[in-house]
Amino acid sequence: MKPVAAPLDRSARTGFSTNSLDRMSEKRDDEALIEQFKHDPAARCVIIAGDLPILCRSAENLSALHAMANAAQFGTIHEVAFLGIDAAGPVFAVQLDGQVADTQQGRDDISVIDLRTIAVQGLVEAEAVGILGQAKSLMYWHQRHRFCSNCGAPTRVAAAGWRRECDHCKGLHFPRTDPVAIMLAVDGNRCLLGRQARFPQNMYSALAGFIEPGETVEDAGRREIREEAGIGVGRVAYLATQPWPFPASLMIGCLAQSLSSELDVDRTELEDARWFTIDECRMILSNTHPQQILCPPTMAIAHHLIRAWAIEGVNP
Ligand SMILES: [Zn+2]
Repeated sequence: MKPVAAPLDRSARTGFSTNSLDRMSEKRDDEALIEQFKHDPAARCVIIAGDLPILCRSAENLSALHAMANAAQFGTIHEVAFLGIDAAGPVFAVQLDGQVADTQQGRDDISVIDLRTIAVQGLVEAEAVGILGQAKSLMYWHQRHRFCSNCGAPTRVAAAGWRRECDHCKGLHFPRTDPVAIMLAVDGNRCLLGRQARFPQNMYSALAGFIEPGETVEDAGRREIREEAGIGVGRVAYLATQPWPFPASLMIGCLAQSLSSELDVDRTELEDARWFTIDECRMILSNTHPQQILCPPTMAIAHHLIRAWAIEGVNP
């Protein structure tokens, strides 16, 4: 069964982190069992058309899960992967062509909505958001790894959708997760927040960047803050992680002790970066900042970094 400790983790407060499925990863190569699961009358699936989830719509609510037997009615199935099993039975991810999202838009028994909106607005229950994130990242990888990155030959799906194999060079390919360091730099009673030009108006967030080969989480965060804001960073303390399926990242959230306070903002990366006092951060979190400054919503790990420091008294 799934470990019961997960809800105790700070990470569990973030969107896409709660997932009720027992992934049964040790059973993925048991083809007979996976086939049996597929044809189980209780089998359900999440459906991704292109990169948009198709939700079931009833008078009462939206649901991420469809009966597995109904998946083919929407169009040609490109990929199927086994996500795991819960108390009600097996759950699969089904990938359909992106055009399906357009052709099915008029139906009143489904809704085609992007995953970010589903998560921010809480359109389906939290555990289903986690399952949709799992499915979206995995299917994104499948769509872009149909050919071997070593020899160029077509690859085929194995391990119930968790591996692709090349029969020509015998290469094995596994789904990617790309780590991102997201760091809230703290200087006494102030913290550093920045905004990219593409952010919603007045929204500021913790600085983030991809972790490169050969780099620790701590050094990646230090580099990002130095490059983007000109601030040196000393001690770094891990806080929480968040699966981030846009397309397949793991956000690793940390608090960081700044070593300097004079900003030198890289305007090609950031539209602005500023120090905010702890009182300002509390107003930002409660949507009462006098300049209407906002931070990311509660589903995002950046919100929890700011909250941990400004409300809960956590320090790097
Ligand atoms: Zn190959």
